[in-house]
Amino acid sequence: MKEVLILGEVKDASLDPRILELLGAGKKLTEASGDKLSVLLMGDRVEDVAEAAASYGPDSVYKIEHPLLERFNADLWLAALEQACAEIKPSILLMSHSFIGMELGPRLAYRLDSRLTTDCIDLTIDSEDGRLLGTKPVSGGNAICVFKCAGQTQMVTVRGNVFPPAESGNAGGAIASINVTIDKSMSRLESLEIVEEDTVALDKANVVISGGAGLGDEDGFEMLEELAEALGKSFGSVMVGCSRMAVDKGWMSSDHQIGLTGTIIAPDIYVAVGISGAIQHLVGMVHSKKIIAINTDPSCNIFKVADYGIVEDFEQVVPALIKRLEEVL
Ligand SMILES: Cc1cc2nc3c(=O)[nH]c(=O)nc-3n(C[C@H](O)[C@H](O)[C@H](O)COP(=O)(O)OP(=O)(O)OC[C@H]3O[C@@H](n4cnc5c(N)ncnc54)[C@H](O)[C@@H]3O)c2cc1C
Repeated sequence: MKEVLILGEVKDASLDPRILELLGAGKKLTEASGDKLSVLLMGDRVEDVAEAAASYGPDSVYKIEHPLLERFNADLWLAALEQACAEIKPSILLMSHSFIGMELGPRLAYRLDSRLTTDCIDLTIDSEDGRLLGTKPVSGGNAICVFKCAGQTQMVTVRGNVFPPAESGNAGGAIASINVTIDKSMSRLESLEIVEEDTVALDKANVVISGGAGLGDEDGFEMLEELAEALGKSFGSVMVGCSRMAVDKGWMSSDHQIGLTGTIIAPDIYVAVGISGAIQHLVGMVHSKKIIAINTDPSCNIFKVADYGIVEDFEQVVPALIKRLEEVL
């Protein structure tokens, strides 16, 4: 039987949420093909994380535990991953399009004499030859292309917030250990300094309110901040995002940008204010559970994906919304 293997990342000794999305993607593939689905975890001690991963229904969870794998070290992780692939012989290897996936993916593909498709937004199996088809945006997002890779192990990195996460509660898969031979001489890393950045975690927010060129100037974003504060009383984490136009105009910093070249998000509620809905913006928010759009142009694209649309000047709508929220909350 063929095997689809997921490289699971461990964050702060727990399961990185991205693994659940990879499990969602892996289940979609193996349900179609009948292949085995497994997860590989690496670290100094990953027993608890392996048990957590097993509860999401893969057929098996492999763990590689070694003191030298305590922190991410590309050379050592690559050596361990290569040895694990030699043992498991997966037909497909799924990795997150994270800095770990982007660092390990190309180097492992070279070592396995295989090919890698990066940043996939969809995965399917070719019904004719059973090989993996990876879909990804190309030419700066102006086209979408489907790739089929040669090689015994077909490898992809998968964009975050695209696949629905797997749900727990399925029968636990078996946990097996894999022994690897690694030592310090394999690492060319001289020093590692971890800098905690004060980044905007838009992809973790329950509600995102985004502003675009239609706000007219940066003062419009103050109004959105007030709306975020009012909604924050009942929705937990509420953050303000923006379109690229708002970044280009200098109204917001680029870490607030939603879209193809910004952050991809799927919050419970997305509010688009003065945003036309260009394809590069939609790619970043179309998986939001409920989309509300406020725009003066009834024919604009954003209304095609919105669950609720308000055709009105935002300066009329947003203060009225804030007032109403303050009355009822
Ligand atoms: C390679 C590439 C990558 C890109 N990546 C991204 C990306 O990641 N994210 C992104 O957002 N864009 C991206 N873009 C840019 C994208 O193509 C659009 O130009 C951009 O999204 C438009 O931003 P906008 O909707 O704010 O502005 P506009 O398209 O100008 O829309 C403004 C909207 O505001 C409405 N409006 C005007 N006045 C009001 C008012 N008073 N009240 C309510 N509504 C009003 C208008 O009707 C209009 O629909 C990218 C482009 C390229 C080529």
